[in-house]
Amino acid sequence: MSRPCPCTSKLTYDRCCQPLLEGRKAAETATLLMRSRFSAYALGKVDYLLKTTSEAERAKLVRDELLQYCRTIKCISLKIISAEQGGPGDETGTVKFHASLQVQGKRQLHIELSRFIREEGAWVYVDGDTN
Ligand SMILES: [Zn+2]
Repeated sequence: MSRPCPCTSKLTYDRCCQPLLEGRKAAETATLLMRSRFSAYALGKVDYLLKTTSEAERAKLVRDELLQYCRTIKCISLKIISAEQGGPGDETGTVKFHASLQVQGKRQLHIELSRFIREEGAWVYVDGDTN
């Protein structure tokens, strides 16, 4: 299967986010986790979104609400603006990105500075500042 990856990396899905979403591969960096989470939003892979959210934040999420949210948005493209730390040897990291979304037929640019940490060795999303 060689469709383009939903994270708009210009790679094919099977060479980009698919192995992460299917749990066959861990995200080496916070940026790669960020990309895979964008793809998960695009594809409605709610369980992956929950799995890659920090334990404390996960407790606040409602699976059905998340699923509903995925259904109301269309993920158009993702642009990583900058990343600090979040590398293979780091325990924390931040990623700034622009996500182009379509919400109820209207284009929206979601700008966020996301925070990531490692939990049991794996990168997870904590939270983010949006503007
Ligand atoms: Zn991807």
